[in-house]
Amino acid sequence: MELKDLDPKSLLEGLREGVVVHSATTEILYANPRALELLRLTEAQAMGKDTLDPSWRFVDSQNRLMTHQDFPVNRVISEGRSIANLEVGICDSSTAEVTWVLCNANPQFSSSGSIEHVIVSFIDITGMKSEISFESVVANSDDVVVITEADPIDEPGPRIVYVNNAFTRLSGYTREEVMGKNPRILQGPETSDDTRKRIRQGLENKDWIHERIQNFSKDGTPYWLDLKIFPLKNTYGQITHFAAIERDISDQVEKEHRLQELADRDPLTNLLNRRGFSQEVEHYLSQRHSELKGIVALIDIDFFKKINDSFGHECGDHALICLAEKLRNTFGNEVSLCRFGGEEFAIFFPGGELKSCLEKLDRFREQVARSPLQVAEDRTLTLTISIGLAQVKSGACFEEAVKVADNALYVAKKTGRNRVELQIGTTKASL
Ligand code: GH3
Ligand code: MG
Ligand code: MG
Repeated sequence: MELKDLDPKSLLEGLREGVVVHSATTEILYANPRALELLRLTEAQAMGKDTLDPSWRFVDSQNRLMTHQDFPVNRVISEGRSIANLEVGICDSSTAEVTWVLCNANPQFSSSGSIEHVIVSFIDITGMKSEISFESVVANSDDVVVITEADPIDEPGPRIVYVNNAFTRLSGYTREEVMGKNPRILQGPETSDDTRKRIRQGLENKDWIHERIQNFSKDGTPYWLDLKIFPLKNTYGQITHFAAIERDISDQVEKEHRLQELADRDPLTNLLNRRGFSQEVEHYLSQRHSELKGIVALIDIDFFKKINDSFGHECGDHALICLAEKLRNTFGNEVSLCRFGGEEFAIFFPGGELKSCLEKLDRFREQVARSPLQVAEDRTLTLTISIGLAQVKSGACFEEAVKVADNALYVAKKTGRNRVELQIGTTKASL
């Protein structure tokens, strides 16, 4: 069979592409069945209809109503050249439905060079136009989305293959800077080792992961994430990637830390309160397995009631603040310091050695007794303290050690005050 044997009309009738032939004055001379279907016209309605017919309603890709000069046929005629791949919406005035087509329009010239016909062809792209772009949803989500390969989990993997806009905004890294790197570049020394271990375990098991983790932006700013990671499967059911959805919860975490601070600190002296102290010590003790775990000392101001009575409560408060400051300056960060209640303070010496603790505390007691506290601009006062201490040994709970220290303090009070006492069971040692 040769090409010339083909009947062009029957060829056009069978096409899935709409084809319309216009005259140079835009009347329709021919429209194939697919064109009539897309234009919602019968053959009788279509024949002879030109672009001035007021029933045409087309919109451009931005949904703006096209003027008749913008119609592809008229543009080909006025510009004298083809138009390719123009998106046009064909409006159905009765149903308000729009059929989207991708349109090509070509002039056919006569032997004298003038336009004789314009052939317009178009395919239906409504399906493609209305399909939801999930990629654009992910790209523009406020949550951070990071996709990595599933393997290898160890360096240099898992390699990042996708990050969305929220990632670049939050982390300060560009897409190019992180492609192929692994998300561990966002972690820092303060990122919890336990969290890292759990994430690693989850990745190895190809589990769903839900963690709270601290990350760091390119300029080192820390931020907190609520992080969910889940495996992605290909069409054969194999896990090929991990997707991480991350929400910036820095504000919430900061609020929680502030509340925690309020719950754990004494507002007058800014030392730990009893609750914060117990938590800190219990945490330390839970991590120690040696025989001697530490030493606890209770410090109580002698005849504090008299100070309040003589100089007023405000003056008493200042005395408490001054003594707290003295404790901080003397014992520093190596110990846990606490306002245990009223005019009573507590110190925990982690793994402390008894003899040196006794000596340090006695030196402190002596120093307090010797140096007047500046409790007001025009007033100093000297006070003394009594101290009881006890060892926290393995097997014994912290609260028991506090009771022993309290007994020792009681003894210090009973035996004259301004003393340090250590009580071990029934045997008693003192300085
Ligand atoms: P001692 O311990 O030597 O037996 O005598 P004390 O007078 O210190 O003992 P007591 O327990 O009888 O009195 C403690 C006083 O501490 C009672 C209370 O008015 C005072 N106090 C407790 N908390 C505060 C506080 O926050 N501010 C002030 N200014 N005083 C306080
Ligand atoms: Mg007291
Ligand atoms: Mg007292």
